[in-house]
Amino acid sequence: MINLVLFGPPGAGKGTQAKNLISKYNLVHISTGDVFRKNIKAENALGLLAKSYMDKGGLVPDEVTIKMLKEVVESHGEANGFIFDGFPRTTPQADALDIFLKEKGMAVSAMLALEVEDDVLVSRLLNRGKDSGRADDADETIIRNRIKEYYTKTAILKGFYSDQNKYFGVEGVGSVEEISERLYKVIDTL
Ligand code: AMP
Repeated sequence: MINLVLFGPPGAGKGTQAKNLISKYNLVHISTGDVFRKNIKAENALGLLAKSYMDKGGLVPDEVTIKMLKEVVESHGEANGFIFDGFPRTTPQADALDIFLKEKGMAVSAMLALEVEDDVLVSRLLNRGKDSGRADDADETIIRNRIKEYYTKTAILKGFYSDQNKYFGVEGVGSVEEISERLYKVIDTL
């Protein structure tokens, strides 16, 4: 069983790369951002709560995010493995994921980090905002806040997974296929 954490700042290409990895390795893709957006569309209580943080480019509280993630994993009992996209984003989330997977006799196999410079991220996100319809992609102030959240709360996870010898950095600039090939090379050594 392979469980991958796809890591990198907003706009690094996690969602795009996840698509290729899912089909090649037959994994279940869980994007916490996508799950929040589905709940926002459904206009339920979780969606309303998440929206109040997402609209500002901030992180949704850990407790809410962890509970939701566990429910989604539980709903895929027969999976070959998972790609966690956009989760964990904080140390408490990473701790909770380790404990949760351990209880199930599973573990994170690797963190695959897409490395991209900030200026490239901002222009990619503004571009994506033209047709993604995502409010948090349309405004440069919100985008910069998302990148700031990444550096203050999420980037620390590089150390968390490096300490477990599970961190693999991959250059996130190039064609989609080139970047996928870099990821496959790492995964095939796991
Ligand atoms: P994403 O689709 O991964 O870019 O996430 C969009 C937004 O959803 C983020 O800016 C956060 O507000 C929220 N979000 C997604 N995943 C998480 C997470 N693991 N922890 C907290 N907030 C999250």
